[in-house]
Amino acid sequence: MPIATVNPATGETLKTFDPLGPEEIERRLATAYDTSRAYRTTSFEERARLLGRAADLLDQDAPDIGRTITTEMGKPVAQARAEAAKCAKAMRWYAEHAGELLADEHPSEADVKDSGASSARVVFRPLGVVLAVMPWNFPLWQVVRFAAPALMAGNVGLLKHSSNVPQTALYLEDLFRRAGFPEGCFQTLLIGSGAIESVLRDPRVAAATLTGSEPAGRSVASIAGDEVKKTVLELGGSDPFVVMDSADIVNAAKTAVTARVQNTGQSCIAAKRFIVHTDVYDAFTERFTSAMRALTVGDPMDEDTDVGPLSSEQGRSDLEELVDDAVSRGAQVLCGGGRPDGAGAGWFYEPTVLAGITPEMRVHREETFGPVATLYRVASLDEAVAVANDTPFGLSSNVWTRDEDDIERFVRDLEAGGVYINGMTASHPAFPFGGVKRSGYGRELAGHGIREFCNITTVWHG
Ligand code: NAP
Repeated sequence: MPIATVNPATGETLKTFDPLGPEEIERRLATAYDTSRAYRTTSFEERARLLGRAADLLDQDAPDIGRTITTEMGKPVAQARAEAAKCAKAMRWYAEHAGELLADEHPSEADVKDSGASSARVVFRPLGVVLAVMPWNFPLWQVVRFAAPALMAGNVGLLKHSSNVPQTALYLEDLFRRAGFPEGCFQTLLIGSGAIESVLRDPRVAAATLTGSEPAGRSVASIAGDEVKKTVLELGGSDPFVVMDSADIVNAAKTAVTARVQNTGQSCIAAKRFIVHTDVYDAFTERFTSAMRALTVGDPMDEDTDVGPLSSEQGRSDLEELVDDAVSRGAQVLCGGGRPDGAGAGWFYEPTVLAGITPEMRVHREETFGPVATLYRVASLDEAVAVANDTPFGLSSNVWTRDEDDIERFVRDLEAGGVYINGMTASHPAFPFGGVKRSGYGRELAGHGIREFCNITTVWHG
């Protein structure tokens, strides 16, 4: 993929960038490593001061960087600004909490004595240089939710961002530099994915985190595995949105629309499969479909747009293939199902609802990365759980019910890294985020996230 800004609303190439050559990559790796040796000794207070400054700058920059994001990957501009605000909030959260999250742990006196020690503790030390391979869909947030905890833990970051968001990637490097972080604490590598292997194998790189597709995750994890380096993988999702017969149908249908079309449907934690109890299926479907049909699709720079273009031509054709496959196997199109009238050269796709999904259809097993919802009718809680789990993915899940017993069953049985009850999945700095099955492993955010890239060290005194 060329490293370039191509406006998804028009298909126009606005700016191209040459990938870094081997000498520049080496220079940046050396800077990262040298910086990490000194930066690891800084205090939480100093790191928090720098991260707080980055948050303030990001808040000031939100209108401008929002427009850059929209130009590069096509999300509605109000959502791009909101993403910047969310990042600033997460930076402040980690600036405030990292010290307590990484405070020394003290085993019980009885265990210390049993081990023969006079005293013992567990300390959380940084690993060093961490490579972050990141996707375009939340081009600030995906990076910040890695960078904020990593920098607070005393690690330094090397960012390999998606090739279609180079200006946002360069902005991030500049943001941390302006905030006062030492040179080399956070650097962007404008490189194609083919150049990742040599960076990852470099002994100065301690670990890697990847958010993206399964093939990318598999590749990075296998190289890191070969080098025995720690990885965290945040991969795809096909989250269920279960609506039981006791649910508040009005709110469920309204939230279902946002849960499906946020970020033009290009979100790993978007609800993608809507699994509805037969007693409320017709009422839910009618409300959901009419609200999906009423969405405004159009220019993502327009403040009133709900759904912008998909981020790439390839992304749209992948989605079209999935819908066409389902329709050819008997799925009913309740709304949408194609390109909107007057889409022009932009990569727009109509909000779409498909019913009558069967296991042979590709949409049943694959991720629909765009504004396409699939509907399932189920007759019982057992069937709802079975359909929800009948996917290779296990990122998050959403359930709507007023029945406490139902809730306990879903919490016990849904194969996912999150169970959101009577609401939609949304990440928050205080809650761990990540998946099981083909959605990856490890966690981001909260205390679990900041500890992923720490050397958890036992200190034992005889
Ligand atoms: P992608 O094609 O996998 O790209 C993600 C990153 O990986 C980019 O920087 C990309 O670089 C790089 N990459 C691509 N192929 C690679 C390979 N073979 N080896 C190493 N790196 C490689 O994914 P995407 O289309 O940008 O993002 C959408 C996917 O990300 C969806 O599946 C979505 O569900 C997932 N996602 C998951 C989460 C989560 O938290 N679980 C969050 C957001 C998105 P280039 O751009 O240069 O190819």
